Amino acid sequence: MASLLIKGALGALTGEASPAARLPAVDVRVAGGLIEEIAPALQARPGESVLNADGCVLYPGLVNTHHHMFQSLLKGVPAGINEGLGLWLRGVHLPRLPIFDEEMVRVGATLALVQMALSGATTVADHYYLHHAGAAGVLFEAAEQLGLRLVLCRGAVTVKSANPDYPDIVPPVSFDAMLRDIDDLAARYHDPSADSRRRVAVAPLTPTYSVTPAELTELARFARAKGLRMHTHLSETLDYISYTREKHDCLPVQFMAEHEWLGRDVWLAHMVHLAPEEVAMVAASGTGIAHCPTSNARLGSGIAPLPAYTQAGVSVSLGVDGPACSEASHMLDEARMAWLIHRAASGPKSTTVENIVHAATRAGAVNLGLDNVGLLKPGMAADLVAFELEGPAYWGQHDALAAPLITGHARVRHSLVGGRAVVRDGLLPAIDLEKLRHDAAAAVAKLH
Ligand SMILES: [Zn+2]
Repeated sequence: MASLLIKGALGALTGEASPAARLPAVDVRVAGGLIEEIAPALQARPGESVLNADGCVLYPGLVNTHHHMFQSLLKGVPAGINEGLGLWLRGVHLPRLPIFDEEMVRVGATLALVQMALSGATTVADHYYLHHAGAAGVLFEAAEQLGLRLVLCRGAVTVKSANPDYPDIVPPVSFDAMLRDIDDLAARYHDPSADSRRRVAVAPLTPTYSVTPAELTELARFARAKGLRMHTHLSETLDYISYTREKHDCLPVQFMAEHEWLGRDVWLAHMVHLAPEEVAMVAASGTGIAHCPTSNARLGSGIAPLPAYTQAGVSVSLGVDGPACSEASHMLDEARMAWLIHRAASGPKSTTVENIVHAATRAGAVNLGLDNVGLLKPGMAADLVAFELEGPAYWGQHDALAAPLITGHARVRHSLVGGRAVVRDGLLPAIDLEKLRHDAAAAVAKLH
């Protein structure tokens, strides 16, 4: 691949959590899929391509660590609009998930990935638990078409729900079928390299009632034997904590520890309600958290204590969660929500711009085990996004580097994944958007 120069940016945030993340007026040279050089006023080499980033600010490509892409076709279903998690699952999912087939999954995933790319994301971890709808490989095909990195967290349910608050939204599969499916996906797609484009992770829908406790432990051992990371939902609502206490006589994080589900190879979505001793266990074990502030706000689940997690040294990344409970799937807006909501909850010193951009970039890559991704630094994978600061919302701005995050809605002019353009001049060359719009409308008609 020929080298490429991104020229004329107003500056960059590197993805580090400290004020040292700020780089004024830099150009970036990319070669062999990696960042070769970051410095002011670089000159184009003979034959080198140049991307114009005048008036743009560069961030590392954003890393979304928790999504359910098929839900792109379930935005704003009226039965769930005023409900919390349990009744939302019952009203939105229960009647509609059986209708999904492989083609609808492809349309939903493509739409989700388009929204990801146009909001600055370059890596997505999708928690996918529809077994009846065909082969999960369709998700990798959709990501390949767009050019994004995808971590497919293969979810499943093996037992009927014993939790009266949460219905069975998908039919159970046998535990053997679950293991076989993950094994097949890993053999076909999993690449363990530090800047992998395709990873597979082991991801039961929820650990406390969608598999048996013995299966949960077996899943952890299976994942570690195969070198796969582990992901699931945990402690999203207060009901979930009471259920775990009643059913398992412990707190959710204690339950996870007993079943070998804490560690540097695990990241857990939500984690809204944790006791102080659970925060200490998460921190000591190196377990990551995928914080989903928009979904938690939309479903009225609460506000995860990000400042406490940061203070304890937990690696906290961001996730947009399913579009059926955020209606947005906008990665930059998700980061802005995180920046705002913790100030509202815990005061103005609770977050900084650099901390939130770190959560949206480098911390996400770390939680996914993509060690060479998420920082603008020579030698790292060339995943970056150029946000354009154009239009009245950006006039009068004093801090260009913070502006994409604090003002929001910045248009992506360019984005690269491993040096390859995903968005170029605001467009997605790989996608026929008009066809996608029709396909999404046709799917919604079937799901109505
Ligand atoms: Zn989720």
